[in-house]
Amino acid sequence: MKRFENKVWLASPTMHGEELKFMTEAYETNWMSTVGENINEVEKITCEKTGCGYAVALSAGTAALHMAVKLAGEEVYGQTVPGRGALGGHYVFCSDMTFDATVNPVVYEGGIPVLIDTEYDTWNMDPAALEQAFTKYPDVRIVVMAHLYGVPGKLDEIMDVCKRHGAILVEDAAESLGASYHGKQTGTFGTYSAISFNGNKIITGSAGGMLLTDSREAAEKVRKWSTQARENAPWYQHEELGYNYRMSNVIAGVVRGQYPYLEEHISRKKEIYERYQEGLKDLPVTMNPFDEKKSDPNFWLSCILIDADAMCRQVRSEHEALYQSEPGKSCPTEILETLAAYNAEGRPIWKPMHMQPIYRNNPFFTRDGSGRALTNAYISGGSVERDGKPADVGMDIFHRGLCLPSDIKMTVEQQEQIIEMVHGCFE
Ligand SMILES: *Cc1c(COP(=O)(O)O)cnc(C)c1O
Repeated sequence: MKRFENKVWLASPTMHGEELKFMTEAYETNWMSTVGENINEVEKITCEKTGCGYAVALSAGTAALHMAVKLAGEEVYGQTVPGRGALGGHYVFCSDMTFDATVNPVVYEGGIPVLIDTEYDTWNMDPAALEQAFTKYPDVRIVVMAHLYGVPGKLDEIMDVCKRHGAILVEDAAESLGASYHGKQTGTFGTYSAISFNGNKIITGSAGGMLLTDSREAAEKVRKWSTQARENAPWYQHEELGYNYRMSNVIAGVVRGQYPYLEEHISRKKEIYERYQEGLKDLPVTMNPFDEKKSDPNFWLSCILIDADAMCRQVRSEHEALYQSEPGKSCPTEILETLAAYNAEGRPIWKPMHMQPIYRNNPFFTRDGSGRALTNAYISGGSVERDGKPADVGMDIFHRGLCLPSDIKMTVEQQEQIIEMVHGCFE
């Protein structure tokens, strides 16, 4: 097989032309800053598409998550205290297997992330592990959950656990814009939620994000906080902590041009997912799963999980990976290196936060409640293992899973070649 002449990307921006029209409009009318028609329009479109009450356009999904966590903190613990943030040293339950932008905002606001293990059915926060965490820390009042790779998590169960414990849900829908659960869009289940328009997401602004909420008061607060928290006065009057987080009207032009293509992007991503599913069905692998009865994912990234008994030996240190090729078996490292050799981009599964040096000492809960029990386990390459096997679900999926090239512009022929490459790894 020949190396791809042009790189096949994991997920790159797919532009359509209208983005340039709206950017040019911003330029020609000189609305080049954080006020303008494009911003107003994308906020309106976001409310229409998702069904949320209010949307506030911000500079990034991370900024939106920061504002969401701050709103939740102030709601539960009162006003932000200088030096202590809005969370003031309180614990917050967070998804564990996710991008670190889900969890970091908790620390920005002075909170301590308590990491909740993953389930195998949707690769998201395990409601049973969340329940275990509430058993140990019944006073926690905020839960931050992500919908990984565009697949809605177990919202019925998570919402039920939150309700029983009087906790607020913050939803990280950065990867799942357009995905729905019981026909309702992700990003509308949390009291405060975030979406992202980062360059590789389902639609992009090159950058950008949005806070979604049904509370007008909360939306107005974020509008104010994100523009440096100016009071209504003839001079720069400040009574609250401010941020420079508002979306630019130029960026909003890109988002505005992309929105009409959201459904088309989702259809393309779904075709990619289904083509992999069909093309790899004879191999000892499964696709990233979802609940067919309850959810419609946006299929942002297509991932596979290699059967445990089809894994060749693979070890990962903090910065490197090694594997030993075996006939009939493979591993994420072998597949990722093979793809790279052919000029195609895959990616490991998000390395769980409890395995990251920055969060390694934070509390962590699995569904058997063992938390970070080191008894009967040993530290290996930065991860806790029991009897040489992954000690928890997140670690196991990280060990056996990977993201395949899922770029919308990939041709059918290119995807078929990728399927062939994966087959080659198992020979
Ligand atoms: C991309 C992403 C974010 C952050 O969004 P940015 O716009 O890049 O700041 C947050 N959480 C998850 C799960 C993401 O994938």
